[in-house]
Amino acid sequence: MKENRTSTLILRKHTWKILFISLVFSGSANIAQTKNTVVESIIKEASENSKLEILAHELMDGIGPRLVGSPQMKEANDWAVNKYSGWGILAKNEKWGEWRGWERGASQITMTSPRVKSLEGTALAWSPSTKGKNVNGGLIIIPDVADSIAFQNWLPSVKGKFVMVSMQQPTGRPDYNWEEFATKESFENMKKERSAQQDAWRKRISKSGLNAKAMALALEKAGAAGIIASNWSAGFGVNKIFGANTMKIPTVDIALEDYGLLYRLVESGNNPKISVKVDSKEKGMVPTFNTIAEIKGTEKPEEYVILSAHFDSWDGGTGATDNGTGTITMMEAMRILKKVYPNPKRTILVGHWGSEEQGLNGSRAFVEDHPEIVKNIQAVFNQDNGTGRVVNLSGQGFLHSYNYLGKWLTQVPKEISGQIQTSFPGSPGGGGSDFASFVAAGAPAFSLSSLSWSYGNYTWHTNRDTYDKIVFDDVRSNAILTAILAYMASEDPERTSREKSVLPVNSRTGEPGQWPVQRSPTRKGGVN
Ligand SMILES: [Zn+2]
Repeated sequence: MKENRTSTLILRKHTWKILFISLVFSGSANIAQTKNTVVESIIKEASENSKLEILAHELMDGIGPRLVGSPQMKEANDWAVNKYSGWGILAKNEKWGEWRGWERGASQITMTSPRVKSLEGTALAWSPSTKGKNVNGGLIIIPDVADSIAFQNWLPSVKGKFVMVSMQQPTGRPDYNWEEFATKESFENMKKERSAQQDAWRKRISKSGLNAKAMALALEKAGAAGIIASNWSAGFGVNKIFGANTMKIPTVDIALEDYGLLYRLVESGNNPKISVKVDSKEKGMVPTFNTIAEIKGTEKPEEYVILSAHFDSWDGGTGATDNGTGTITMMEAMRILKKVYPNPKRTILVGHWGSEEQGLNGSRAFVEDHPEIVKNIQAVFNQDNGTGRVVNLSGQGFLHSYNYLGKWLTQVPKEISGQIQTSFPGSPGGGGSDFASFVAAGAPAFSLSSLSWSYGNYTWHTNRDTYDKIVFDDVRSNAILTAILAYMASEDPERTSREKSVLPVNSRTGEPGQWPVQRSPTRKGGVN
């Protein structure tokens, strides 16, 4: 992709130049005690020569979503290696497994009766294609039957039809909109009715005796033309897009507005018809990679500071905030460190992990394959929850994390560190992202946790997770924070303590808290 976005960049540079000056002066208040030209250079390079917009454009717009096993995922791995090489940083793609290869093509969903309308929707990941044809058919809704036998008796009636498997949402307005405009009573009523409806729908599905995967395969076996879902994400015009379970027939997700239209037409006996064309290619089993790059340490090359962010994404949007922003934050931090701190004391390594979305597979594989690195980790910094500036940092349960994280944060300008709520020793936390793969192995790994920017419902795994949702000022601030923390962790004369804190008693079981257990990755995935 060509670099031709100078105008906005110049504008941004001026804004950031002003911010840079204020950062340096505020920072210098901190640095006054310990004059630190490297920290100043990091801030200057990040503010005046940022590559974030270009990286985001090439990755999100040029390459697109990075579903595990897709050609785009491999293209992104190769792109990152080239980028790093261009910055003079040693980089490679390290194979850790293999996955069902699949390439997304176009999806066309059209209502053809009682009138013609293009429907807003897309095939789910790994959905089979319609082999170049338009598949036409009527629609049928999962019935509310007495039990699984009644459901089996109903199954033959799906033959040649598209089956609607999601509940119809009572409203397409998110709760914050109701909260603002509805009367209190009306809002309460809506919520009450909706949860009653959700309960009834859950019962309807459970009475079939089948979970989502078994249901999809049963409908396929019974001759359904395809499956129609609508996974609304509680925001205007936004749905979550995950993977299909069918192996022969298409599975598509339709926007709330169009799904409700079809659902009501079916219920009112208007017998709507649709036409579905899904293009996609099966690629057989393909190798999967982590992209690893490093700036070799000089004094303690066998000790590691690791920057961490998963590279894969779901493919409803372009994986901009999950986890494009974490990816470009770490790339930009590495670029800056190579430029202003080319000879670190410890080795600074970055891991762009594959298949985090299917269970931290890339990072778990790295931990399993590199015990020699894991035992010599000084610190891992992971970012994977959106475009927002970092506002939370926990000690992840490491008893003395306060000492070293606290010390390192003193070199971060107040404008940035002042926004961060720290919690020490914190808890090791669940398996929410790749830092967990390292924490489970006892290595000090930390999640740089971001401000929401409506991540949960508007961009996380949705069809709206695109370039325009990135807030570059916040990502720039995260790149500065990450680069300074990595620098400080590399420079620290002391090795970080791995002593674990005593975990609180589990309130549910009454059992003493357990440190998370290291888990093996799925190295051969996507196969039924
Ligand atoms: Zn993620």
